[in-house]
Amino acid sequence: MLIVISGPGGVGKGTLVRHLVERDPSLWLSRSCTTRPRRPGEAPDAYSFVDRERFEAEIERGRFLEWAEYLGQLYGTPVPEPPPGLDTLLEIDVQGARQVHDRDPDALLIFLVPPSSAEQERRLRRRGDPDEVVRRRLAKAAEEASVAADLGAIEVVNDDLDSAVDEVATLIARARAARGQG
Ligand code: 5GP
Repeated sequence: MLIVISGPGGVGKGTLVRHLVERDPSLWLSRSCTTRPRRPGEAPDAYSFVDRERFEAEIERGRFLEWAEYLGQLYGTPVPEPPPGLDTLLEIDVQGARQVHDRDPDALLIFLVPPSSAEQERRLRRRGDPDEVVRRRLAKAAEEASVAADLGAIEVVNDDLDSAVDEVATLIARARAARGQG
């Protein structure tokens, strides 16, 4: 099963996904490629950091399950090769979620939302993104929420991290049961 976690920048997708994977050994986290430069302090293996030329060559070779341009940078999910029996977890934007949904209508789509836009802004600033990037990411959030609603993604509010992780774990368990995997 494919599980997609989307949500606006600064909502805490990365942290939630890390907790999910630590807790559920049946999840396999995909690592994306991006042309975005690594942020100060960001783990070197957070993404495969590549230049645009390399990214475009990978598109040509059909190496991506989906890819999208987000605020001027390319991001893509390599065609997943999870170990047998594991479910693939993707942390991607809503354009990517749409492509995954088109290819696999059975994929579980989850859209994480912040408790408020003030809280989202605070989280983005704390992460050290420049002002202009913070502004563009906030402007994008409303547009992303409407795409997610169109796709029928299930909304989860990330107010308290542990509760959000519990909620997503429950959604995954239900989806597995519905697909006869539970
Ligand atoms: P960031 O630059 O903050 O790491 O990521 C920016 C946006 O790109 C986030 O919404 C993140 O979920 C999304 N993203 C990360 N990897 C991928 C990917 O492989 N495909 C797509 N479509 N979006 C991605």
